[in-house]
Amino acid sequence: MLPDLIVGKLRSVLPELPPSSMHALHEPEFKGFERDYVLDCIETGWVSSVGGYVDRIERELEQITGAARAVAVSSGTSALQVGLNLAGVQVDDEVLVPTLTFVGSANAICHIGATPHFIDSDPKRLAVDPEKLRRYLERIAGRGNSKTINRKTGRPISALIVVHIFGHPADMAELQLVADEFEITIVEDAAESLGSTIGERHTGTFGKVAALSFNGNKIVTTGGGGAVLSMDIDIGDRAKHLTTTARVSAGWEFDHDEIGWNLRMPNLNAALGCAQLERLPDALARKRYLAAQYVDTFSDVPNVIIIREPEGCRSNFWLNAIMVKDRETRNAVLEACNTAGFMARPCWRLMHTLPMFNFCPRDDLSLSEHLVDRLVCLPSSPQLIGSDGTFEG
Ligand SMILES: *Cc1c(COP(=O)(O)O)cnc(C)c1O
Repeated sequence: MLPDLIVGKLRSVLPELPPSSMHALHEPEFKGFERDYVLDCIETGWVSSVGGYVDRIERELEQITGAARAVAVSSGTSALQVGLNLAGVQVDDEVLVPTLTFVGSANAICHIGATPHFIDSDPKRLAVDPEKLRRYLERIAGRGNSKTINRKTGRPISALIVVHIFGHPADMAELQLVADEFEITIVEDAAESLGSTIGERHTGTFGKVAALSFNGNKIVTTGGGGAVLSMDIDIGDRAKHLTTTARVSAGWEFDHDEIGWNLRMPNLNAALGCAQLERLPDALARKRYLAAQYVDTFSDVPNVIIIREPEGCRSNFWLNAIMVKDRETRNAVLEACNTAGFMARPCWRLMHTLPMFNFCPRDDLSLSEHLVDRLVCLPSSPQLIGSDGTFEG
């Protein structure tokens, strides 16, 4: 039976665990200077919203991603909210977003007063399908006030959120062509894709602005947090200003020149993140090795498709996933894996099926519906490889 076969395959890839413990889906690992840096904050008193680690994590993210500016904020969702604002999205606009994503992508749209407009994803990369998006826009888009308008609702469609699902880069070149054709601004949700590149270029540097997340389940964690990235220094500076209460430096005076947000990342969290970033190359190597083992193990199993790194890209392999035949099989596989101590999970519930979003405009979403019925996410923590010292990078 397939569920037992899959459990057997997981046993062959993952190290044995003590009885009654689980192989987690994605767990943080603190093997570097996390303790030292966090203690340093406490000992020096710099625990809050300013401090050396905040500046340091921002400069390091710029180095890693090649972004002109990185601004540390309180979560990935808030980074997206700021990103959409800086992309020029106005209250009552519509923002295209895949239905197959984490709820934060859609929530951020609502937090700035716009409406999510759900689109379909392609079964290979699991990200927005450029061809299907083009055909859809050709059907529904009109022009008004030098903007692209949804002819059905009369509202401007001002931005497109592209999500690099599970760390696999979306097809940015094709998506950019569609976005240019319809004058729609791209905001990248790179929450899951720190370390993933297209050619030599890091995800999160293609859109006008991008969001990273450092939640506890991501490849690098600050406990909770995120970052806004931009290749445009002015946009980056705006992000910093807007997320830090729009304070104007004026010596000891408290002076603010517009309504800002308080979305700052505390120095304590940035300290944790700085130590985590130092270990990013190691985490990436381990995850690449684990993914290669999964590909090797599952590539000869009939009726199972393993999600692979897209051609010309390097994935961070944040989450490994397989696809089985149908929903029933998926449920049986999930049951068998979790019973055997392997935390396997379905994909998210599709956004357009959640009660708060089911009124939102949308394309036909049959590809995504078919995908989530079949996806099974597998244990993907970097420490699953080499915890016994066998990993050779
Ligand atoms: C994690 C995640 C977010 C949100 O990040 P938070 O830091 O949890 O707010 C947004 N989009 C995607 C695709 C994510 O995986």
